[in-house]
Amino acid sequence: MSVTQQGYAIVVHGGAGSPRDYDDGCERAAERAAQELAISADALDAAIAAVAVMEDDGRFNAGTGSVLCLDGATVEMDASIMDTKGRLGAVACVQGVKNPVLLARAVADTPHWLLAGDGANRFAAAIQHPVHTEISQRQRDAHAKVVKELAGSLPAMPGIDPQAKAFLRFWNYQTPLDLPENAACDTVGAVVRGPDGHFAVALSTGGSAPSLLGRVGDTPIIGSGFYAGPAGAVAATGIGEQIVRHLLARTVYGWIEDGMPLQQALERGIGLFDPAVPVGLIAVSKTEAGSFSNRDMPQARIIQQ
Ligand code: ASP
Repeated sequence: MSVTQQGYAIVVHGGAGSPRDYDDGCERAAERAAQELAISADALDAAIAAVAVMEDDGRFNAGTGSVLCLDGATVEMDASIMDTKGRLGAVACVQGVKNPVLLARAVADTPHWLLAGDGANRFAAAIQHPVHTEISQRQRDAHAKVVKELAGSLPAMPGIDPQAKAFLRFWNYQTPLDLPENAACDTVGAVVRGPDGHFAVALSTGGSAPSLLGRVGDTPIIGSGFYAGPAGAVAATGIGEQIVRHLLARTVYGWIEDGMPLQQALERGIGLFDPAVPVGLIAVSKTEAGSFSNRDMPQARIIQQ
């Protein structure tokens, strides 16, 4: 039975710097969110459903498609959820789980808001979250590309200096660095305004490649990668080390709250960054929904008046 009473808005992205060929994955995710709204009318359930679809897609850097860490074996994932009903949860550096966004949702039911590393892994086991340890050829190919790029000392991660030397100097994986292209972004995110006027945001990422073991970006950090409040919801994507410096999601939310047109707020947010740094934003407000990125960014939106 549908309980939808008023209009709603859903915006989904598949990561700043990812090809628009992946729009179909975002469209599937947005449709899944709309179905969820028709069932539960809950903005957070809808945002989470959208992100879970993209985690399962395999093409995005999230869930089963997450980038391999530099050691070519480890996968560390971050995810977060927040809504205007007071639910807030996140996981950082979690390993071997199928849907980090569902784990972030589960953290919101604990006395905490963020669980990291081994504690997050053990929490997943405690709630019997499905294990996922398979590594696809796609993930291996992406890793080989990053390693090749590092070996050539190309600027693998815009805005982060120095490059390959820093990874060698601070190498903290158990296996030695084995050097034989392109910083991986493709984090996924969804923002939703529900039919009851509540806002929600959900994010998931395999992190930004290349990175040291234990690296955490903006995705699980409130106010940086995500924010939801009475005036709307905002999600960011791009190089986390840069995004956190601007508390990007909360900063853009503040402009929307102050009455700035949503598209202008998004463009102003992206304008804070050096063009060499890939960054993208999606947002919903009481009356608007939009996206903006300084790179290609797969996306989809469904707006029901
Ligand atoms: N923001 C993510 C991170 O730095 C990556 C991304 O958005 O693609 O972990």
